Amino acid sequence: MDNNAVLEGQRALVTGASSGIGKSIALGLAGAGAKVVVNYRAGGDKAAQVVEEIKDSGGEAFAIQADVSSESEVQEMFRQAVQAWGSIDILVNNAGVQKDAPFHEMTLEQWNAALAVDLTGQFLCSREAVREFKRRGMVPQISRALGKIIAISSVHDTIPWAGHANYTAAKGGVKMLMKSIAQELAPEHIRVNAISPGAIKTDINKSVWGTPEGMEGLLKLVPAGRIGEVEDIAKAVVWLASDESDYMTGETLYIDGGMMLYPSFRTGG
Ligand code: NAD
Repeated sequence: MDNNAVLEGQRALVTGASSGIGKSIALGLAGAGAKVVVNYRAGGDKAAQVVEEIKDSGGEAFAIQADVSSESEVQEMFRQAVQAWGSIDILVNNAGVQKDAPFHEMTLEQWNAALAVDLTGQFLCSREAVREFKRRGMVPQISRALGKIIAISSVHDTIPWAGHANYTAAKGGVKMLMKSIAQELAPEHIRVNAISPGAIKTDINKSVWGTPEGMEGLLKLVPAGRIGEVEDIAKAVVWLASDESDYMTGETLYIDGGMMLYPSFRTGG
């Protein structure tokens, strides 16, 4: 098989795919031969650009607007995707937000907003994807799996993070949602895995890497000595979506330049 086409014939849906990591994942999946639904919540022009970029490289894509925290919008998005392409084989739950605040100042609105997108959004999209995988049934010529779900989590599914209690609670929840449904669905050949990025250069953390002092402080947390690029994540998503990782389910890949390795112990302790 052509290694550049490991996902030939497969149909992927990537949430929050008009920017940052999600955009790179959409481009990466298309580069591996998959058709890609580019989900976005706001800013249709940016989503349209991603679609154009994929088409310019000879791929197939279209954009669907939907808020992943809305049950009806998620259901309508899957209906449109299935109507267009017959089914979905790969779901990447990438959409995420941060609503940061010191804990004692955190409003219920900030708490709910982070949980709604970062955790409930993953539940709603995964449930629709699983319903579609089961409805479609196995197609061995396309994949050894009935379907693949990849959750974009964070190193903060494990590393506590002051001032971000809502985000860490959501990402910690994603870890156990991923593992529980992986366990439940493995007998049906549905694979569910997660990728937990460390610091990746995108808009979500621009306030940190955008100044020399911010970048210096950040790199103290990264033994590999550089901030991650969006492609570092996209390449791993392609592998997790392909049959190359067929025996893997319920696992998290930490792609973080060593952020999880207790970096302060390198020189102390
Ligand atoms: P980003 O802000 O560029 O991407 C987030 C995307 O999600 C945006 O396109 C946004 O429009 C979309 N989105 C937000 N709410 C949505 C909703 N309700 N419905 C649909 N889409 C919605 O930032 P990013 O860094 O590319 O983040 C992507 C994912 O990676 C997030 O889940 C984030 O938590 C995770 N992550 C990022 C980093 C990092 O260092 N950048 C580290 C760990 C985890």
